[in-house]
Amino acid sequence: LNIAAIATVAFALTPLAAQTARLSDAQARSEATAAELRERALESNFAYEFLRRLTDFGPRLAGSRGERAAAAWVSQEWRSLGFRNVQSEPFPLLLWQRNEETAEVVSPHPQKLRATALGGSPATPPEGIVGEVAIFKTLDDLSNVPRGSLSGKIAMLDYHMPRTESGQGYNIATAGRSAGPGAAADAGAAAFVMRSAGTDAGRSPHAGLTRYRGSSAPIPAFALSAMDANQIERLAERGPVRLRLWSNASSQPAQSQNVIAEIPGVEHPEQIVVVGAHLDSWDLGTGAVDDAAGVAVITAAAKLISQMPRRPRRTIRLVSFGAEEVSQPADPFGLFGATAYAKTHSSDLHRYVVASESDLGADRIYGLDLPAGAASTAFGQQVQRVMLPLGIIVEAETPPNGGADFLPLQTAGVPIFLLKQDATRYFDLHHTELDTFDEVEKGQLDQNVAAWAALLWLIANGDVDFRETLPRPNQ
Ligand SMILES: [Zn+2]
Repeated sequence: LNIAAIATVAFALTPLAAQTARLSDAQARSEATAAELRERALESNFAYEFLRRLTDFGPRLAGSRGERAAAAWVSQEWRSLGFRNVQSEPFPLLLWQRNEETAEVVSPHPQKLRATALGGSPATPPEGIVGEVAIFKTLDDLSNVPRGSLSGKIAMLDYHMPRTESGQGYNIATAGRSAGPGAAADAGAAAFVMRSAGTDAGRSPHAGLTRYRGSSAPIPAFALSAMDANQIERLAERGPVRLRLWSNASSQPAQSQNVIAEIPGVEHPEQIVVVGAHLDSWDLGTGAVDDAAGVAVITAAAKLISQMPRRPRRTIRLVSFGAEEVSQPADPFGLFGATAYAKTHSSDLHRYVVASESDLGADRIYGLDLPAGAASTAFGQQVQRVMLPLGIIVEAETPPNGGADFLPLQTAGVPIFLLKQDATRYFDLHHTELDTFDEVEKGQLDQNVAAWAALLWLIANGDVDFRETLPRPNQ
């Protein structure tokens, strides 16, 4: 808790009458509607059922049949819920397929390992790759070894990701996963392995994308489960460890798609509040927390709003992004659905009031970052009153980002907000075979829907121009 948060709580605890006195009748009615939406969300089964049906499709790897079928189903559901302007926007991509893979210790004590090829990794030669492991604790350590010094070896990045409520620490892991294989290749390594980017102590490796930006040819890259990384650490304390890695991963041209729907505003349909989640998942589980949950949350929130007697003043647009988990070589953000969306809609970016994504699992929301300057306004105080019964504190005024899929919009100047989810458990599950419907807790999922429904209503039915509240460059 910081000082700003304490100040916000103190405000929220001042007598209600004193606060509501400053509201117009319309604002007071809007706040009452937001509170009603919040309570309805907590009594609904919709998000949980929607999530169950979405995970029934199985894994939804970008460009796969599973992703395509799930996207078609989402389109159909959004239409049947009465959402308007539902459309699917296809874009081409390379479908990377894992196929089969094995990893084992060859010496000193032969044994099988639990490992998974990183997305984008090339296949090994048919006979596999055998080499001695060279362990590095940080990406910097690996990047600083002289060229050629790892010739014939298997470079292992052994970063232990900490468990945090915010999920901080994952960015260090992804930096290693993205740049590690290229750094290893530049040093002459034959292959790259890493301790999985995760917080669990179990035997399920975490998939994830790698990118090859170095000057060297790409080398096969794998993630080891935490237990298997521990085993290699212990073996390496006593002497050289040799591994054998094998993969027949392949790539082929395919197609993914963003799906879009709207609840048109009644007064300012041209002003768009855009919210998203990504439909694609990794292939080892069924992508329940990453990110079927996000699609379920925004759908459920929009459904509740669409069922109110009066629609909000501004347009709410939903985007179910394709291909968030995989990158494309020519894509500066490595977020192909996101960049496809930003390109397709580049001419109407000035109409976006604010943007945000739900993409950190299905556990409870504890904080909210509003666009800069907004938290201290009457609007921000109204939001705090509606969020407080959910245990959500308006914490800061500068969200670091509003979700990966809106990075291109954020870069283009669209204001963002961030509903901050408890990520304590998230990185035990994410990108593993354990990311399934069974891990989702309905009560926490519904708390997410309640927060999204109430906040979306207040923004879409309000008149705050978040671009105006942003600090100007010369101030
Ligand atoms: Zn995700």
